[in-house]
Amino acid sequence: MADFIHDNVIIGAGAAGLMAAYSACKSCISSVKKHDVIILEGKDTVGKKITATGNGKCNFTNSYQAEACYRSNDPQKAFGIVNKFDYHAVLELFSSIGIIARERNGYYYPYGEQAKAVRDVLKSKAESLGAVLVTEKRVTDIKYDKGSNKGQYTVICSDNTKYFVHNLIICAGGSAAPVFGTDGTMYGILKDMGLKVITPRPALCGLKIDHKSLRVIDGVRLKCNCSLFTGDKKNIIYSESGEIIFSKNGISGIPVMNLSRFAINEISYGSKCGLILDMFPETGENELTDYLNSIITDCKGKLGTALSAIINDKMLKVMLRESGLDFDNDIGSLNPQNLKNGLKKLSALLKGYTVSITGDNGFENAQTTQGGVDLKEINENTMECKKYPGMYLAGEILDVDGMCGGYNLQWAWSTGYIAGSNV
Ligand SMILES: Cc1cc2nc3c(=O)[nH]c(=O)nc-3n(C[C@H](O)[C@H](O)[C@H](O)COP(=O)(O)OP(=O)(O)OC[C@H]3O[C@@H](n4cnc5c(N)ncnc54)[C@H](O)[C@@H]3O)c2cc1C
Repeated sequence: MADFIHDNVIIGAGAAGLMAAYSACKSCISSVKKHDVIILEGKDTVGKKITATGNGKCNFTNSYQAEACYRSNDPQKAFGIVNKFDYHAVLELFSSIGIIARERNGYYYPYGEQAKAVRDVLKSKAESLGAVLVTEKRVTDIKYDKGSNKGQYTVICSDNTKYFVHNLIICAGGSAAPVFGTDGTMYGILKDMGLKVITPRPALCGLKIDHKSLRVIDGVRLKCNCSLFTGDKKNIIYSESGEIIFSKNGISGIPVMNLSRFAINEISYGSKCGLILDMFPETGENELTDYLNSIITDCKGKLGTALSAIINDKMLKVMLRESGLDFDNDIGSLNPQNLKNGLKKLSALLKGYTVSITGDNGFENAQTTQGGVDLKEINENTMECKKYPGMYLAGEILDVDGMCGGYNLQWAWSTGYIAGSNV
């Protein structure tokens, strides 16, 4: 019996894959010839990662859009692609299929704030339009045969089944959060096919820091301006304000997640880097010193109590010790000059607390992957691979990592939609 040749096979049923399935089915409806759309998913259920996004609420896009939100070797091309199916288009499509949005400060979530709903609705719509979802089908190899009378592509799975395919959409994600099925093996398969893959590394993840009091400040949250430097402290390469959180082995929070990709790259190049935390970005150091002195003037009792409204008390204890003072010092019994010098040091620490970065929390704890298939390999109008006609790439597998705020999902929706509607 002749082998069956499929029209469209999608590898990976994550955000990009489900969107590609939906848009491919939509396009097929309007075409004269009937086409089939199959999704091969390695896990036992589809879209597992979607259900974990946005702390279970799924921050699926954002009204603030700029090139800087999409990090890549070619951010201009990345942003150009996003603009072909932008956040307005996502909101419109989602609304048309029942995913109405709730907006908070430009961040969009499904109205019921359940990430699972986004996965379930997309899955159900794709299936209603004719897509066939096959789970527990892990793709282990892809062969291209230009002259074949079967499909152009043979997709080989871990159970030795083979799919002969005309059009292939690869939406296998990156290496981040492998618990959701993304082990990064697709990079190897595509490299073997001759595609340029920029070294994948974690992005949007916490960082390990060198700090002797981490156990004391575990769980402390601080609002500050967080600057990443490399080599010399003056060489600041990224700054962002927001809330940071200390943990037993390091530091996280949105500013840290957003700068982590740059720190991880610097460390991989062998550079030393660290963070400068400015807890009073709107106040000059001298002004702050004067203010600290004014607080303790005519004040009796513990130094720590007098200063306790300045900053989290666990952090204050650490900083007072580093300034040569102690939280429990009695203000009246302190040598006035020592107190003055100590408050000057404290002010300098509040304005520029420096920690060295020693590593990252790995792909297991990262939200996305930096690096991946070079955007030069694809046609930005169709997401088709220039070297392989009929093979399309979408989502995190490509060299784009978004900032926190819904940009990674926006990238998955944009590229999945474009690829699906062009097969
Ligand atoms: C905890 C967490 C929270 C996040 N929160 C947000 C957020 O709120 N907003 C946001 O924009 N982004 C968020 N992200 C990032 C976002 O989820 C991803 O960037 C996005 O899901 C990538 O979509 P994708 O379709 O390319 O890959 P994925 O969604 O990772 O899907 C890839 C799919 O391919 C399958 N697969 C992989 N290899 C194979 C193979 N060989 N054969 C068959 N199947 C395979 C996988 O099992 C998986 O289902 C978060 C990520 C994590 C981990």
